[in-house]
Formats: sequence, structure tokens, C-alpha cells
Amino acid sequence: MNIESHIRKLRQDLLSWYDAQGRVLPWRIRPEDRASGFKADPYAVWLSEIMLQQTTVAHGAPYWEKFLMRWPSVIDLANADRDEVLAMWAGLGYYARARNLYKCAQLIRDEYSGNFPSTEKELLTLPGIGPYTAATMAAICFGQATNIVDSNVERVIARIYAESAPLPKSKTLLKKLAAPIADPDRPGDYGQALMDLGAVVCTPKSPDCNACPWSFACKARMYGNPEDYPQKIKKVRPVKYGAAFALFSGGKILLRQRPDKGLLGGMLELPGTPWADNMPDDPCKTAPSTKNWEKCEGRVKHVFTHFELYLDVYRAETRTQKPEGIWAEHNNLGNFAVPTLTKKAIALALNS
Ligand code: SF4
Repeated sequence: MNIESHIRKLRQDLLSWYDAQGRVLPWRIRPEDRASGFKADPYAVWLSEIMLQQTTVAHGAPYWEKFLMRWPSVIDLANADRDEVLAMWAGLGYYARARNLYKCAQLIRDEYSGNFPSTEKELLTLPGIGPYTAATMAAICFGQATNIVDSNVERVIARIYAESAPLPKSKTLLKKLAAPIADPDRPGDYGQALMDLGAVVCTPKSPDCNACPWSFACKARMYGNPEDYPQKIKKVRPVKYGAAFALFSGGKILLRQRPDKGLLGGMLELPGTPWADNMPDDPCKTAPSTKNWEKCEGRVKHVFTHFELYLDVYRAETRTQKPEGIWAEHNNLGNFAVPTLTKKAIALALNS
């Protein structure tokens, strides 16, 4: 088989598999819907793509539904209160995504009259939209032939070519290998089919090669070791330590807002020490008041992308609701932008 026929067969077999077995997702226009005239809504697709970065469909889909119910259009989202957007995002993690989501919605409202631009190049200029999301939106929403490559696609491509160069160095190469296969006639369906293949069939630990439309072409399957691809350079995650202070007053707890820029930017946390390479010697020196702080049994562990954090939690009671800050009802934090780390620390304080 020459190279053109090989690529044609890869496209055809993948798309036939997708037509019959692709996932039904609420933001997705299936091929049969498209044939009936339905078009993808760029706002809905954009929300799903931003929410599902580093997040499973099962975890992200309820957030997508909540956002669309609360803010049915990108202009509604742009007009929302930012703290409410952050509060609705709480639990999804990677909070820079929420801040950029809000910024992007405002830019779409103010500079694009509420309509997303239609080219990959323009989409790439928007806050929070990287190469993968720009390529995905351009293909799915605007029918452009783009090369959609995320970590699922990297895995599939590394396997069919048995590419042994390790990630992340091999990213450019894998993208180059993926490019000629992308289907110019059905770019959106092709991209979604490839994502589904990586998510459902060619999974990291147990690829189902018998169900795979590309098994005829897959070198890793032929060699009998698909799980060994892609190879990765292992990184050791650094560890940081800190202390957090849970000050209660009646049913309320004292919180503070993190700086807008940086990790968990704009989210709420317990007052605490900076996070450092070692646990501070006398953390209560920096506590928000001179109460008799009681150290809670156990420790909070939280894993960020670039480091692991261990927090000691101290608790105390006050009657005065001083010092000033955000005093929130600890049983009713749903309306506050409280990330998982803060929730874990509060839970430890409450259960001590
Ligand atoms: S044959 Fe197996 S390893 Fe190869 S792409 Fe398909 S599922 Fe992945």
C-alpha cells in the first residue's frame, strides 16, 4: 500500500468507527446531527475544552452544565461577577483557567461583538486558548482542517509509529507525524474521533487493540508492547511545607483572598505561612491573632502539577470575628471561591 492509500485508510477506518461508536457528549454535534443541519456552538465547545483540560469528562461535565444554565451565552458570562465565576469553578482546579475564561469572555464581548473568531490564528490570541484548544475549536466549530494534538493523541500517534523518543521532547515530532493523517473533509469529526480513540480505546494502561480501528497500522501492537509508549522522562516533584490557621467564630471561619496572579489566584484560603522547603519552626508567630492555637492531628497533603504540598493546620476559637477578613459560614461555602486545598484544611480543622 502506498503512503496516500495508507493515510486514506487510516482516515476512513477511524471515521467509520467514530460514526458507529463515538461518544455522545452534550456539547458535541454528532455526524448524524450535523447532517440534519445542526452546528456546534462555539461557546459551548470552548467551555467544554477549557474545563476538560487535565480533568475527566465525568468530573467536568456537571460543571459545564452548571455554567451553561447560569450563563447561557458568552455575553452572560462576560457580564457576570468574577467572584461568582470563581466560586462556580471551585473544585475543578487549575484556577488560572477560570480567570482566563472570564477575561476571554469579556474580550469576546468587547472586541468581537459576542462572536468567537473563526480562525485558528485569531483564536490563539485569546486568553487561555492554547494551540490545542485553538485547533480544536477551528476544526469543530468552523470546519477548518487543523492538526489537533493533546496528550491522548500523542499517545495514539506514539504507538502507531512505535516512536521511542520520550515526552516531552518528542512533542514536536509527534505533532508532525499526526499532521498528514488529519482529514481535510471532516476535520471536526476527525479530531473528535481521534480524541475518543485515545480516551476510550487506546488508554494509557490497557489499550483495547482488538477494538481499535487503527490496529492494522499500529507498530506498538505488532511489537506486543503498546503500554510502553509514549516513553516519558520522569520528573521528581518537589515537596513544600506550610501551616494554615483555622480561626472559628460561631459558625464562621476566617478566610483571605489569594493575590490575583499566580497559583490559586483570586481564590480563598485559610490565613497561613508561605510555602517553603521546610516546615516553619514556629508557624504560630505569623498566625492572624494571638489565640491559643491548637495543632490538629494529621496533615493536609495536596498535589499540584509542579510540587506536592504538606500543610499543618492549627485551630482556635474567637467570639469577636476579629481580625477583619472574609468570615464565611463553614457549612455553607458553596457561594465562595474555595478551592479543594482550602476545603481539605477546613475539614481537618473541623474534625479535630
Ligand atoms: S492498536 Fe492498540 S496500541 Fe495501537 S493505536 Fe490501537 S489501541 Fe492503541
